[in-house]
Amino acid sequence: MEKNIDWKNMIAERELMGAILNKISEGIAVLDQEGRFIMMNDAYSQMLSYEGRVLEDAMNSYDLEKNNAYININEFIIGKVREGISFDDEICTISSKGERKHICFSCKPICNEEGEAIYTVVCLHEMTKLMLQSEKIQQQKEYINNIIQALPTPVAVVAYPGCTYEFVNKEYVEFLKAMTRKALDHNDIIGSTISEILPLACADAIKGILGKIYKEPMTTQEKMISFKTPKGEAKHYQMLHTALKYSANDKMYIVRIGMDITSQVVLLENTEALTKAKEEFFATISHELRSPIAVMHSIFQMLNDDYYKRELNEKTRKLLKKAQRNNRKLLRLVNNFLDITKAEAGFMQLRQVNANLVKYTQYLVKTILPVVEKKKIQLNFTSTCSTKRIVLDIEKYERILLNLLSNAVKYTQYEGKIDVYIHEDDRYLKVGVKDNGSGISEEEIDKIFDRFYISCSSEKKLNEGTGIGLSLVKRFMQLMEGKIEVNSHPGEGSEFILSFPKKLKNTTEYTMIEELQPTRESISLEFSVLYD
Ligand code: ADP
Repeated sequence: MEKNIDWKNMIAERELMGAILNKISEGIAVLDQEGRFIMMNDAYSQMLSYEGRVLEDAMNSYDLEKNNAYININEFIIGKVREGISFDDEICTISSKGERKHICFSCKPICNEEGEAIYTVVCLHEMTKLMLQSEKIQQQKEYINNIIQALPTPVAVVAYPGCTYEFVNKEYVEFLKAMTRKALDHNDIIGSTISEILPLACADAIKGILGKIYKEPMTTQEKMISFKTPKGEAKHYQMLHTALKYSANDKMYIVRIGMDITSQVVLLENTEALTKAKEEFFATISHELRSPIAVMHSIFQMLNDDYYKRELNEKTRKLLKKAQRNNRKLLRLVNNFLDITKAEAGFMQLRQVNANLVKYTQYLVKTILPVVEKKKIQLNFTSTCSTKRIVLDIEKYERILLNLLSNAVKYTQYEGKIDVYIHEDDRYLKVGVKDNGSGISEEEIDKIFDRFYISCSSEKKLNEGTGIGLSLVKRFMQLMEGKIEVNSHPGEGSEFILSFPKKLKNTTEYTMIEELQPTRESISLEFSVLYD
């Protein structure tokens, strides 16, 4: 019995198939072996209009005549179908009406039961967008590569765990050549392992670092690499490692970047050498300048002893006294000059201890009383503070206070008055030295801390100062993170206030004031005019 054919349904199915085929973006056509079209979808009929010149960069276009050959896609396909040639995914790039088109062809036969080809299915797939994207990616890759190649810094990518060089820029090739002294080129390096290129110890050290990064991705710095180039130049590099986010086939890609720090290292070496030379200079010059004065000082002291004094007549004694006083002044000047030069060159160091500032100040005041009495000056000391101990460079404090006191004595009339007082606020312990001497004019007050500033007043000039004292005091105070202020009015007197931060050094060590007695020497120097 003949089957009932459901024509209606068949027609509907065919129409549905046609509609589906027309929605597909790939061009599909069926041709018989004579090259006649049995069917084609919309995408195919659109692509039939493509014709143009095959471009030089056409990719593997089947047996198209390459390079500048004219191609009409339709004729080309019909020709191939008639010849019975089948091919798969051949890509051709043509220039069609000024536009670049990339088309992928495939031609496959449909065979009958005997295996004879009766139809050919042709698929055309436009890949222009895809190819443009891939071209863009390629361009970007080249762009980045050009930048990395142009960098004046060695850059390499190493794959871990194999430790093979995957990428090196030109500078890295030069870096490896200089470091290993081998005639390497880009091709020798790419694909080689670190151990094949670098000396064993160096390779092992790098492998260790890469291993650490593999376990815990991070950015690390390798210790400095130093070597001499074949030309004998010393080079110093600091290597930086960073794990790339990208990884494939269980490999981690690690970037090695070399920073040339030769100039910094050379600068540091020069600075260290210069510092050493300067320190040696200060030591030598201090010794050379101070020694002869110190020798003279001892001789004068010897001559002053009763044994020798008896031998001297009155005139010679007077001359000896004068020579001794001037020698002291010279020693004070040399000491001050060397200290200020040292401090301004940044070589003055602090020897800080926790000390009782109140007790020590009181002690100093007491010690100079006999000297001050020569001018019948009344010297008082008062303190109203509870904080007593602070961090202090005792030696410098002694110089500071004796300096202020000797100035106060110098610029105060006979039977004048000097008050030394200590008080405190929240932050500072303050030491004031107040006299009722000649005072300082408003114009001069800003200049007295300048190095070598000496008052223009004829009366003050008689004191034959050097103008270093207060500049040194200010420097020492700055070194101790303190400050100095002055209030003064001509004819009324001057008040110098030292402020020391209320800080203690983090130590249990405490300096006993008794161990810090100022020498007769330092007082005799500061009070050289009165001290005889
Ligand atoms: P010098 O060692 O020559 O005294 P200083 O640097 O100690 O130099 O002082 C600079 C100047 O400040 C002095 O020449 C003087 O004019 C002025 N000066 C310092 N202390 C006093 C003071 N207590 N009374 C008046 N003038 C002072």
